Amino acid sequence: MTDHCLLPTFTTMKRIIDNALFLGGVAVGGYVAYTQFNTVLQKILLELSSADFARNFVQNSKFVQPIVSRFVAGQEMEDALAVAKTLNAAGMLVSMDYLGESVKYPDEALAARDHICEMLGKIANENVNANVSVKLTQLGLKLNGDLAFDNMREILTQAKSADNWVRIDMEESAVTAQTIDVFERLRDAGFDNVGIVVQSYLYRTADDVAKLIKRGARVRLCKGAYDEPIEVAFGKKTQTDANYVRLIRELLGEEARANGVYPAFATHDDKMVQAVIDYVKEHNIATDKFEFQMLYGVRTELQDHLRDLGYRVRIYVPYGEAWYPYLMRRMAEKPANLQLVLANL
Ligand SMILES: Cc1cc2nc3c(=O)[nH]c(=O)nc-3n(C[C@H](O)[C@H](O)[C@H](O)COP(=O)(O)OP(=O)(O)OC[C@H]3O[C@@H](n4cnc5c(N)ncnc54)[C@H](O)[C@@H]3O)c2cc1C
Repeated sequence: MTDHCLLPTFTTMKRIIDNALFLGGVAVGGYVAYTQFNTVLQKILLELSSADFARNFVQNSKFVQPIVSRFVAGQEMEDALAVAKTLNAAGMLVSMDYLGESVKYPDEALAARDHICEMLGKIANENVNANVSVKLTQLGLKLNGDLAFDNMREILTQAKSADNWVRIDMEESAVTAQTIDVFERLRDAGFDNVGIVVQSYLYRTADDVAKLIKRGARVRLCKGAYDEPIEVAFGKKTQTDANYVRLIRELLGEEARANGVYPAFATHDDKMVQAVIDYVKEHNIATDKFEFQMLYGVRTELQDHLRDLGYRVRIYVPYGEAWYPYLMRRMAEKPANLQLVLANL
């Protein structure tokens, strides 16, 4: 189907969403109604992030390209390396993310592993200050846990030879336990150049963090980007935020410091950033004992501000062709981004 054929559908969609934004945000008037509307929109966007029909529709449309290029460094490895060098020159650290998740065939997992190993080689050869972030479902976790584990062993071996390390992203709650299990097996197998991510919206995370602190693990704390049921995750943003602040204190606390935990605070939220700054100032924690992390294209003014204050800031740089689910999660985090897409129609 061409973009031309899609035009009437897109125009209709734009009208519907524009009207809905208007009705939800203005006509109904109340702040509560607007918040509820955003929550519904977030759920729809997260639902669509795993729908094949929506992926085909959006990926084939040229209208979304401007918004894709705002959040994604490019399609090729070279694009990401070029962006990383520019960010390095501006004083930022980088984490490369080769986009892709939930592969359906082992060959795809092996191809992703080889691509990531090649990227680690190029980072070393071209003197880029970057590590890589990986998703275990891209490496075959949903097909076979051992496949993902074996692929990680190869990636970590390559990373070690390049004096680098790798972060395992955290995906939806259906794979949280398996993801942590693979991380622990890798650590038990002697790999110390691997880090993990935890999400403050999950009830289980406080317990996970306590165990990770005992291990002296390298932990990235984020809020969580998936649509999770109330059985496993807080239903209110205020609860997720409160848990985030609690976990900041754990990850920077005495036991964590004694065990050599190096936390990364992945957030664009001023309140979370301030909570980190308040804690480190109060406890005289040096700026090389933790870092802030933010997504490529999101709140660049805050990224620059923190760097100027002397904090370490690492930018997560996604690249590759499989940008669709990543983009939909970014839309869900800030539905106003959707208006940028609609503005291009
Ligand atoms: C480096 C990094 C790695 C991550 N890794 C993972 C992971 O492994 N697993 C996982 O589940 N999630 C991951 N996330 C996503 C994370 O869980 C949140 O969904 C996302 O960061 C939004 O939460 P927030 O802390 O920025 O706070 P929010 O309260 O959502 O946002 C605070 C403010 O930041 C701005 N903002 C936030 N998101 C956007 C956006 N997309 N576009 C424009 N403005 C925005 C807005 O101004 C918003 O008001 C990662 C995030 C970062 C920064």
